[in-house]
Order: sequence, then structure tokens, then C-alpha cells
Amino acid sequence: MQNKTALVTGGTGGLGTAICKTLADRGDIVIACHLPEESTEAGVWQAQLKDEGYDIKITAGDVSSFEDTRRMIVEIEKNYGWVDILINCAGITRDATLRKMDENDWDSVVKVNLGSVFNVTRQVIEGMTERGFGRIVNISSVNGQRGQFGQTNYSASKAGMHGFTMALAQEAARKGVTVNSVSPGYIATSMTNAIPEEVRNDIVAGIPVGRMGEPQDIARTIAFLTDEKSDYITGANIPVNGGLFMSF
Ligand code: NAD
Repeated sequence: MQNKTALVTGGTGGLGTAICKTLADRGDIVIACHLPEESTEAGVWQAQLKDEGYDIKITAGDVSSFEDTRRMIVEIEKNYGWVDILINCAGITRDATLRKMDENDWDSVVKVNLGSVFNVTRQVIEGMTERGFGRIVNISSVNGQRGQFGQTNYSASKAGMHGFTMALAQEAARKGVTVNSVSPGYIATSMTNAIPEEVRNDIVAGIPVGRMGEPQDIARTIAFLTDEKSDYITGANIPVNGGLFMSF
């Protein structure tokens, strides 16, 4: 029973749901952050999980906005105390080749995927270092490591997350705070369901393990990285991609 407080941005999404459940299973108090305009859906999500035996807290906040994130964290601290574990999981895609990509496609992806990592982490890092304990995991992507046709915005934002990870890991290393990235390959969620079927079949054909990943594959990795005892892994990027991209 670990009994830490964990905040999962994008917590009601495909990967976020598996992460929330896995952290709750080991005794953490889990708060899922969702977009303010998705409050009704988040309420339904919370009730479904309650039926499955999970007591997950929910909180509304647009993590692409520094101000709204600040408001959300103040509320969380008032209601549940401080955040020990932060999983930066909120993310979007707006795919287009660069010659067809407009400024909004670029700005929104960079603001949500990368800006949110600053916006949320900035609010909790001081408390973590003062208390001498913290676990931060940024959900990057295989496409941040290798680039992907039609995803200059997404690949840049995801590669940027890992730069942030390595820099903050150095700043926080002596204070009991670890900072790592997890880079999923193609995992079966609504984000990848949006990929046309024939493209998805081609992708699966190129995965050495021969299938898409499951959200649980990512959640297990996060449980390991955020364990109290995992205090000697920091600044790392853990690929969970079925062998799709191998590097060292
Ligand atoms: P998803 O679309 O199911 O979940 C993403 C969640 O982020 C949604 O609940 C959405 O409401 C939330 N969100 C978006 N913008 C937000 C904002 N401004 N403020 C607050 N919340 C916001 O997607 P997923 O597949 O669960 O992906 C989760 C993360 O994993 C993303 O960062 C994604 O880039 C990354 N990832 C996913 C895959 C995959 O194969 N599914 C692969 C690599 C990386």
C-alpha cells in the first residue's frame, strides 16, 4: 500500500484510465484531470469506475493554460493535500504534412503536449523538492524519438518533452524527485482508433511483437517508475513499443 497522491492529466483518456486504475490498485489516492468542457463525460467515467470498485477523484482543468492549471492545482491542494506523483498524459494530435499544416495545428499541439508539461510541473515541483519526494512521468511517444510523416507538430512536442525530462531530472536529483519519460508505441486507444484501418494494418505489420500495445502495458511501466523504491532511475526514457523502434 503506497498511499501517495497521484495526479494524472488526461486521466479520463485511454491510457489515463489504465494508469489511474493501476495506481489506485496499489493504494494511491488518484486524481484524474479532464478538460472543463468534458465535465459531463468525466462524471460518467467516474461513475463507471465506481461500479468497478474504483474511487478516482476528478478535477477540471485546461492544462494548456498556465492560469487554469494554477487554479486547478490550488483546488487540488485544498481538497486532497499535495501531489506526490504527477503523470503528464494529456495530449492531442492535429496531423498534416508541413506544407498543409496551419498555425493553429502547430500551436495547439505544442501548447497541449509540451506547454502543459511546464504548466503543471511548475506548480508542483517546489512542494515535491521541499518535501523530499516526487515522481514525475511525462508520456512522450515513439514518434518523438524517430519522427513521423505528417506529425512535425506532434513529433516536435514529444521530443521536447524528453528534453524537459532530462533537464528537470538534473535539477531535482538531490531532492528525492525523479523525472522520467515513457514513450509508447502504438497503443489501442481512441487516439489510434482514429487512424484509418488500412494505415493501422500497415503499422501493425511493422511492429516486431506483431500487435498494438494495450493501455495496461503503459500503466505497468508507470507503476514501476513511480514506486517509492524506484529512486535511482531518473532522466530516463522508457520505450514501450513492441520493438517498433530500438535504440540505446
Ligand atoms: P486520449 O485521447 O484517449 O486521451 C488524451 C486525454 O487528454 C483526453 O482525455 C483529453 O481530454 C485530454 N486532454 C487533451 N487536451 C487537454 C487539455 N488541454 N487539458 C486537459 N486535458 C486534455 O489519448 P491516449 O491514447 O490515452 O493518449 C494519452 C497520451 O499518450 C497522449 O499524450 C498521447 O500523445 C500519448 N501517446 C499515445 C499513444 C497511443 O498509441 N495511444 C502513443 C504514444 C503516445
